[in-house]
Amino acid sequence: MSDEFGDRAFDEVLTRTARIAADWLGSLDRRPVGWAVTLDELRERLGGPLPDGPVDPLTVVEELVEAAEPGMVAIPSGRYFGFVIGGGLPAAVAADWLTTVWDQNPGLYACGPSASVAEEVAGEWLRDLFGLPAGSSYAFVPGCQTAHLTCLAAARHHVLRQAGWNVEEDGLCGAPPVRIVVGARRHATIDRTLRLLGFGTATLTVVPADEQGRMDVTALRTVLPGGPAIVCAQAGEVNTGAFDDLAAIADVTEAAGAWLHVDGAFGLWVLASPAVRHLAAGAQRADSWAFDAHKWLNVPYDSGVAFCAHPEPHRAAISVTADYLIQGGAGQPRDAIDWTPGFSRRARGFPVYAALRSLGRRGVADLVERCCAHARTFADGLAAVPGCEVIGEVVINQVLFRFGDDATTDRVLRHVVDSGEAWLSGTVAGGRRAIRLSVCNWRTGDDDVRRTLEAFRRAAAS
Ligand SMILES: *Cc1c(COP(=O)(O)O)cnc(C)c1O
Repeated sequence: MSDEFGDRAFDEVLTRTARIAADWLGSLDRRPVGWAVTLDELRERLGGPLPDGPVDPLTVVEELVEAAEPGMVAIPSGRYFGFVIGGGLPAAVAADWLTTVWDQNPGLYACGPSASVAEEVAGEWLRDLFGLPAGSSYAFVPGCQTAHLTCLAAARHHVLRQAGWNVEEDGLCGAPPVRIVVGARRHATIDRTLRLLGFGTATLTVVPADEQGRMDVTALRTVLPGGPAIVCAQAGEVNTGAFDDLAAIADVTEAAGAWLHVDGAFGLWVLASPAVRHLAAGAQRADSWAFDAHKWLNVPYDSGVAFCAHPEPHRAAISVTADYLIQGGAGQPRDAIDWTPGFSRRARGFPVYAALRSLGRRGVADLVERCCAHARTFADGLAAVPGCEVIGEVVINQVLFRFGDDATTDRVLRHVVDSGEAWLSGTVAGGRRAIRLSVCNWRTGDDDVRRTLEAFRRAAAS
């Protein structure tokens, strides 16, 4: 092969990069989980003027690694418990690398037949795993927020169409009003999605929620008198992991003819586990579902999935055509541009396919159940630490706790984070500071739980 096209350079840089990557993953047990560098230092390390001329690829990579190293968060570590993040399964990480190397663009079947079919297969596997209705349509998107956008665009089309209005052609000015009902403890991405779809946040009907964040279904009944309506329910509140009573909510939305959308970013994964799937009972009766693969399935960033029980409004809301595109019709290959709000896009199906294939049905259930078991161990262990109060119940993989007053809680949290033993962050619960701990990494083991509990014991005693 002529090196004019860089084939030898590719071989060298990719081989070296694979070594660097494996070394980094191998260092996770020894390195601090958080970062140990200031913003100014990082700007100094990575910055400087744009070089005038080319730099050799291997030098670029090695210098990037060197400069970026201290500002890395050990997110793939088993002791990273921040937000709701998840790690990367080996098969998913490897398939994600290849996704980059293969550089397919599965917006159109014609730009990546295997990428399109991998999405088809992974979509069907997910539908089956969650027990969603046969024939549901789906889209592989960057994250749960884009999944909301996909689903709620379909919902907007459907409820307005039923009221005799074509929103894709005529827009929202002069359209019949749509009642949008949300729970008080919805995720912030619901509001942002609705905003982007032309539904102002001040026009939302907000149903109160209980302490754990569950929507009050009695109150929901009183705000759905009929007419175009969309209800956004939740499977897994971001702090507590609590589930709305989806079966009771589905009774109400079905009677009112409203569209029911479920934000199941991480919580919907309980449907894959016989031990905890009862928490989301009734979920299958919804009209659309948004969730992430980059959280609990442990696919690397970024990877979200939208499902819609009604392919027609999904396609009507999203599809696009142009003279130069090559698109199939009925019986033809699936073109993702008909279903995803993105046009050109990454072949996100490959790493999802690889994750599901490497775990299998039983492996996904084990992953979910193992994380829930670790969360319970944390809650028990923390309750035994002097001064620690575990807040509410541990529903799935999320634990909320505090140490007395706000200042003490923040001090204990800072102590643990500064120790480098674990990384997690704070929130507000019932008007007071709290610490939130989320277990959703396949790597987290008993030893990680033990080390983290020990770090909290030391921090509380200091
Ligand atoms: C993380 C999360 C989202 C947003 O998901 P992204 O993948 O970051 O877009 C939405 N809802 C809930 C409940 C979440 O936990």
